Amino acid sequence: MIPPILPGSTVGVLGSGQLGRMFAIAARRMGYRVHTYSPDGDTPTGQVADLEVIAPYDDLDAVRRFAEAVQVVTFEFENVPAATAQAASEGAPVRPAGFVLHTTQHRIREKTFLEKAGLPVTPFRTVTTAQELDDAVAALGCPAVLKTADFGYDGKGQVRIANASAATAAWDSLGRVPSVLEAFIPFDCEVSVVAARGVDGAMVDYGVIENRHSNHILDVSIAPASIAEPVARQAQEIARAVLEALNVVGVLCVEFFVGPGRGLLINELAPRPHNSGHLTFDASVTSQFEQQLRAICGLPLGSTELLRPAAMANLLGDLWSGGEPDWAAALANPDVKLHLYGKLAPRPGRKMGHLTALSPDPRTAVETVLAARRALTRGR
Ligand code: AMP
Repeated sequence: MIPPILPGSTVGVLGSGQLGRMFAIAARRMGYRVHTYSPDGDTPTGQVADLEVIAPYDDLDAVRRFAEAVQVVTFEFENVPAATAQAASEGAPVRPAGFVLHTTQHRIREKTFLEKAGLPVTPFRTVTTAQELDDAVAALGCPAVLKTADFGYDGKGQVRIANASAATAAWDSLGRVPSVLEAFIPFDCEVSVVAARGVDGAMVDYGVIENRHSNHILDVSIAPASIAEPVARQAQEIARAVLEALNVVGVLCVEFFVGPGRGLLINELAPRPHNSGHLTFDASVTSQFEQQLRAICGLPLGSTELLRPAAMANLLGDLWSGGEPDWAAALANPDVKLHLYGKLAPRPGRKMGHLTALSPDPRTAVETVLAARRALTRGR
C-alpha cells in the first residue's frame, strides 16, 4: 500500500486560476500547505496559496525545483506541455499522471482514446489536410463543427460549418491547424458527471449535473439534472469507465450531449474539477476540490451526497461594465452563496466568480440563482 500524504504536507498545483484557488481553500482547510506554479503573479490561486512560483511552463528546471519542494503535484490547467508534467514527475508524483493530461489536452487523442475504449463519443473525423477535410465533410454531412485539436475551451477554436462550401474558409479561419470535424448534435440537453478515483482505484461520482451554455460558455449548472433515471445511471457508468480506462488518480469531469435518439454522447473530458461541479462546494458533503485533494493524497474519498438541490450561475466580466455589481442585493436571499476569484481585470467573457443557490427543489434553485444574478445589476 502506498502511504498517504497527510495533513501538514505540501501539495503543488500547476496552474493558478479559480480551480486552483478553490482547491487551495479546501487543502488549507484540511491543514495542507499549497504551492502554485504559473507564469503569472497575484493570481486567484496565488492569493490563497502559501507560495506562488512565477515561471513559464517550459522552464523545466524551475518545474523540477517546484516539484522537489512538494509531496505531490496536481494541476488545475491541463494545457501544460507534456515535458512539464514529465519534469514535475521527477520531483514528486503527478496525479492525475502525465498520460491523462496528454490524452485530454488534445481533441484528436482524446476522441480516439474514447472510441478505442468503446465509449460513446460524438461522431468525428481527424482533419490535418485539405483532402481529409473534404472527406470528413462528406462522411459526417452538415451542419458540423470544426474544432482545433489543441487548447480548446469555452468554445474557443471552433467554428460551425453550415454547408460543405463553407468548410475550407472555416478551416482557414482556424489557421489550418490539426483539427477534428464533429457532427453537429441537436441535443436535448447537456449534462456532466464529475467523478473521482483514488490511488487504490476506489471511485465516487456526484451524479448527473445539467448544464446550460450561453455563447459556448457554461452559464448555469443544476443538480440533480432533470433526466430519466436510467439515462442518469448510464452517464454515471460511462464516467466511471472513463476514469478506469485512463487510470485517473484525481478528479475528472465527463461532459455529455443527451439525445435526441442517440442517447448519451461524450462531448469532452476535463481531467480536473470542473465549472459544473462548483456547486458541490456549498451543496455536497465533500466538494469536488476536497475530493481532488483526498484522491491525490491517497486518503479515503469523501461522501458525494447532495445535501440540497442546487444551481450555480457564472459571473462573467460583462457584469462589471456599468461599475461594481451590487453584491449585497444578490445576497439578500440567505440561500445564495457568493464566490469571487480575485481576478484583477473584469474582461467581457472572463469567469470572475459564481453564485450558488440551494433550494428544496432544482427548479426553485435555478430561479433563485438567476434572480440573484439579475439583482447584481438591477440598480443601473
Ligand atoms: P466544447 O468547447 O467542445 O465543449 O464546446 C462548447 C459548447 O459548444 C458545447 O457545450 C455545446 O453547447 C456546443 N457544441 C460543441 N460541439 C458541438 C456539437 N458537435 N454539436 C452541437 N453543439 C456543440
